[in-house]
Amino acid sequence: DASAMEAVQADLTAREIDVVRLGYSDLIGAERGRDLLVRRFARTVGHGVAFCRSVYGTSPMGDVVDIEGGLSAGLPDVIAVPDLSTVQEVPWEPGVAHVIADVFNPDGSPSQESPRNVLRRVIDRFAALDMQPMIGPELEFYVLEPSTDTPNGWRRYGEGTGNVYTAGYKGDPENTLLASLRRLDAYGLDVVAANHEFASGQFEINLWHSGALDAADRAFRFKTAIQELARMQNKLATFMAKPFNDEGGSGFHLHFSAWSSEGAALFDDPAGPDGLSAVGRSAIAGVLAHAPALAALLNPTINSYKRFGPDTLAPWLIDWGLDNRSAMVRIPPERGRAARLELRLGDASANPYLAVAALMGAAYLGIRDKLEPPAKLEGYGYDVSKAEKLPTDLPTAIAALEADTELAEMLGPQFVAAFVAYKRNEIERFSQWVTDWEFREYSYHL
Ligand code: GLU
Ligand code: MG
Ligand code: MG
Repeated sequence: DASAMEAVQADLTAREIDVVRLGYSDLIGAERGRDLLVRRFARTVGHGVAFCRSVYGTSPMGDVVDIEGGLSAGLPDVIAVPDLSTVQEVPWEPGVAHVIADVFNPDGSPSQESPRNVLRRVIDRFAALDMQPMIGPELEFYVLEPSTDTPNGWRRYGEGTGNVYTAGYKGDPENTLLASLRRLDAYGLDVVAANHEFASGQFEINLWHSGALDAADRAFRFKTAIQELARMQNKLATFMAKPFNDEGGSGFHLHFSAWSSEGAALFDDPAGPDGLSAVGRSAIAGVLAHAPALAALLNPTINSYKRFGPDTLAPWLIDWGLDNRSAMVRIPPERGRAARLELRLGDASANPYLAVAALMGAAYLGIRDKLEPPAKLEGYGYDVSKAEKLPTDLPTAIAALEADTELAEMLGPQFVAAFVAYKRNEIERFSQWVTDWEFREYSYHL
């Protein structure tokens, strides 16, 4: 309301902040937004800030995809309204505060395509069960620096130096990771740890768990911030799932638990099998049962499926295990309030809102239907005789999402239709694109 906007304007002015960067997630999780003058903030956002509906349909290469109500309807407005509870100073950009917006249609109804609205929809289902979903995100990424020696113009930062858990200058020779950790902390993202991953130039940062919406907001901001901080150093931080043929991909692991409104841990039961409650076991079962459709949202790119495979620490099969990193769902050893599942399916390219919504939607269906998980994986995984394979490419995953009408109902059929249309366009464009692999394979010997 107007007085809240006035109060924020006065507060920001007092803190010598002159610009508010209003941002929100598009379908693929990229931030779209506008910089607004604080001096005009209350006036500008009084009725929300209008954007062209192409925000949902434009691809990184600039194609405008015709999602329902978009191009063919003449590209009407969507209206972004700041969620004032999310105002946060940007420590590396003095004078700028960031705020996350909720997106509405011109008639005032929530935009069904907005990933934040998709997540809210699933959170509401849990609230109706008196359950508070908690999420802890972990994101891996590569940091690259310019190179004239590689075809794409980038090489891994600190190439040849680090190994997994290498600490300090040996794996982070310019303190890029260390500086990022500090700045993200100052940005209020509740980051807790940063480490070197398996490949040189590959890192991971962990965010502390919190309620699902807040955790997804922080993961969304995290991705933009890491990219921005790298850009300021003339580097490229990439959340691409599998940027290199000869190195592992980047995961987006999600820890998930649920608490009652009194704060009781709902996945914990010292008397239950493996110390897990029936609700916890059903959540696991729901995630396994809906895994092929989940892949469409947690592994949303053509490149995503090149990260999967045996012996990768990324999953390949639809399975679960106790403290087992070769399984798709790992149950960490802690119990009590920390009793939780870790979904290792997602890769870093996933939209945080959609990844969290998909995970929770599938878990909800498992809980609602009182599903029982299959036998758990014992020992090292990747044995294809013991479990179903995940989809091996994006078209298969998109078809699985379309066929999973229960999950589509959880997430919103209009959203799913838009997402499927967007991804089908991406698949179509790729199928017509000549890759360097084809040239190497076919240009000389045939
Ligand atoms: N990079 C692996 C993945 O893609 C995960 C490695 C790890 O467990 O840290 O999921
Ligand atoms: Mg890791
Ligand atoms: Mg992990």
